[in-house]
Amino acid sequence: MVIEPKIRGFICTTAHPVGCRAEVKRQIDYVKSQPAVSGPKKVLVLGCSTGYGLSSRIAAAFGCGAATLGVAFERPAAGKRTATAGWYNCAAFEEFAAADGLYAQTINGDAFSPQIKEETIARIRRDLGQVDMVIYSLAAPRRTVGEVTYSSVLKTTGEPYTNKTIDLKTRQVSEITIPQATEQEIADTVKVMGGEDWMDWMLQLQNAGVLAPGATTVAYSYIGPALTHPMYLNGSIGQAKKHLYQTAGQIAAQIPGVHSYVSVNKALVTQSSAAIPIVPLYVSILYKVMKEKDLHEGCARQMYRLFSQKLFGAAPQTDEQGYLRLDDLEMRPDVQEQVSLIWEQLNSQNVSQLADIDGYWDDFYRMFGFGIEGVDYKQDVDPDVAIPSIHS
Ligand code: NAD
Repeated sequence: MVIEPKIRGFICTTAHPVGCRAEVKRQIDYVKSQPAVSGPKKVLVLGCSTGYGLSSRIAAAFGCGAATLGVAFERPAAGKRTATAGWYNCAAFEEFAAADGLYAQTINGDAFSPQIKEETIARIRRDLGQVDMVIYSLAAPRRTVGEVTYSSVLKTTGEPYTNKTIDLKTRQVSEITIPQATEQEIADTVKVMGGEDWMDWMLQLQNAGVLAPGATTVAYSYIGPALTHPMYLNGSIGQAKKHLYQTAGQIAAQIPGVHSYVSVNKALVTQSSAAIPIVPLYVSILYKVMKEKDLHEGCARQMYRLFSQKLFGAAPQTDEQGYLRLDDLEMRPDVQEQVSLIWEQLNSQNVSQLADIDGYWDDFYRMFGFGIEGVDYKQDVDPDVAIPSIHS
């Protein structure tokens, strides 16, 4: 069938298998064009199918030559319904890894659940023995623990916060007020996006004997400039990230020898960040400024830099609080001064000149395999693509 993008709110409900494959290949080609990295050899990637997790997996496999086991929560095609982009990405990743003689398997299911943890441990034991790196890149709206399902919210924790936002479809800039989260909503957001599940994974891997001595683990966070703080750093999600930072210390304390980090990454268009109010407008301005200064990086460049410079260079490069900072270019004073100047002036009339809305949309469509050079979107394609390691 011919597959076209169908946008609903901040998500695209279709994905293009050929386009997703081309986009995965583009990231792989980038990493392969860079010097090889002397890094981990057996890597578990939790949240491996899109965004930062996918790019981490690509950096590990094609930068370090690592065997990778990925866990993701994606949907295969069914009848006329396409699979999710993450499903197609995993299929393509496995295909390219196999062509290069690299072990790559994927487990599809709820990473928060005991069943998927057990299945993952069994697979590591069977195929890899132990893993020497665990990447925690889950971004989930909810988490079920036993009988209870917790949902995360994107709200402030202080007074309601009003600032500019954009309707990316109509390019109308308007004001939005972000409500204050209740104590319960904050606690639930921490439950979903904080460090509890990361810690569970690490302890269970360790107790099962499948974590190599001296292994590295990393989870991802964001800080950003003051204008996003009420929404992010000081919002409900920021509380969850605070918990993630604390967990990094607890993992190191409870599993001696494990090197545990939080990497603070750049704001980028991903399926998760597209859902955060205010952030897409900020990202569009940031793209404009960083592209003009030739500083722009996508997920692949960020994750290659994480591996090659921040984690596995001569020595891990952390800031005074112990974080790996991949947002160093985003937070450069000259970049942020320019972003603030634009933010002040921005309105519906000048938004297309002052912000990189086209660049935003380009990245958005790419995430779902659309708008990619060399792909003939008029061609009939079979939406039913198998992930080689998943027999379903
Ligand atoms: P994403 O939506 O692209 O990826 C999320 C991944 O988690 C996918 O692989 C998805 O399949 C998987 N997943 C979700 N729920 C799952 C579940 N229950 N079980 C198994 N897998 C599940 O998100 P992203 O933006 O790459 O975010 C990854 C991390 O990076 C998050 O911690 C996020 O806060 C952080 N981060 C993102 C940005 C940004 O701008 N996008 C910036 C800095 C840090």
